[in-house]
Amino acid sequence: MTTAQRAITAMVEQIDGPVASYFSSCVHCGMCADACLFYTETQDPRFTPIYKLLPMRKVWQQEFTFWGRLMKSIGLAKSVTDEEMAEWEELVYDTCTLCGKCSLACPVGNDITYMIRKFREAMVASGHAPQGLKEAMKRAIEIGSPMGITLTTLQAQIKHAEEELGYKVPIDEEGAEYMMVLSSAEIAQFQEIIPAVARIFKAANVSWTLCSTAFEGTNTGIQIGSSDLAAELIERIVAGAEQLKVKTVISPECGHAYIALRWEGPNLIGRPYKFKVQHILEILEELRKQGKLKTKGKDETRLTYHDPCQIARRGGIVEQPRNLINQFAANFVEMKEHGEYNWCCGGGGGVAANERAEERRLDVFSKKKQQLDEIKVERIVTACSNCRNMLEDGLDHYNMSDIEVVGLTETLVQFLDDTNQAND
Ligand code: SF4
Ligand code: SF4
Repeated sequence: MTTAQRAITAMVEQIDGPVASYFSSCVHCGMCADACLFYTETQDPRFTPIYKLLPMRKVWQQEFTFWGRLMKSIGLAKSVTDEEMAEWEELVYDTCTLCGKCSLACPVGNDITYMIRKFREAMVASGHAPQGLKEAMKRAIEIGSPMGITLTTLQAQIKHAEEELGYKVPIDEEGAEYMMVLSSAEIAQFQEIIPAVARIFKAANVSWTLCSTAFEGTNTGIQIGSSDLAAELIERIVAGAEQLKVKTVISPECGHAYIALRWEGPNLIGRPYKFKVQHILEILEELRKQGKLKTKGKDETRLTYHDPCQIARRGGIVEQPRNLINQFAANFVEMKEHGEYNWCCGGGGGVAANERAEERRLDVFSKKKQQLDEIKVERIVTACSNCRNMLEDGLDHYNMSDIEVVGLTETLVQFLDDTNQAND
């Protein structure tokens, strides 16, 4: 079978009822273009979201519609070629963060993001995926983490945290209420997260644990478009959670980890979980409402919140971070488009892991720059380590590094009132 035939076969497999109905209901209005920062910031018509699916549309027409089949049978339809797939690789990986804004904008309700995710499956099946993502996928399979983080690295971070805290960070505690998974970036770069979570849970007097066989939440399978890999990574977390018999698994400050674990996981592995999955911000908000997350003092810094696309628009967590921020911030201002309508940072969906896309992702950060120029803040709070890295890169690129970028959990803990906390 040629590479092009493999791609066509994979696309036929991926075209399900929703994809077919989306293609047939598209009215070619172009409204999705104005929702995509890769289009708005470049005006390149190739970056119109629905155009990024053209080869898949061709396969749908030729294999699933009467007129398309007829044209194909009399030799009047051109098949998708390997060259076309290679050309579209750039469109579906370098200029799409799977942010979901186009799906929100489409007047006939086409979930274009879902279609692009499906198209990526065909890309992977025919060998067309960016090198950076392929390497991350290899590390995720062989080492268990896309950044190559091992248990030894985690244990070193736990040791640091314990020295700072003066008490043990729980790991492999059977029967704990919560099991926390982390993202690679949180273990490697944003190490404040482990002591922050430990302090919050100790103050709230709830039991929690890390798991030595399931600490990595980042899901490269979702980003590259491989359901098999995505399912394998989910299975590791499920096995760890079931072995420890925890009630709830906490998804970290990482957008794709949350989407993978909370929304796609049970379908990927073909069975329901025996535990709940919640995002860390949902847990913090529940503790706040129960009076178990008390703060003292106010942050006078003028700050805003950047909604990670997978957590807000695709994940529904919009109100919780605002309630949490308002608990400690005296000068919280919103960007004009925020919550479900926020503009993507430009680094999600594997774009930040794709070196080839670096120039473009920095270029289209101009959208976030415009948003920030309107409100003049000193700090951006966010809840995704990938967004955090992209925001820092973008601010640096546009000489705006005086704006600080921080994670919500670690910022909140600076105001935590744990003076009356439960003792060990
Ligand atoms: S999901 Fe986001 S980045 Fe991808 S095409 Fe749609 S609007 Fe553009
Ligand atoms: S917004 Fe929807 S209907 Fe309009 S061109 Fe895009 S996919 Fe088609």
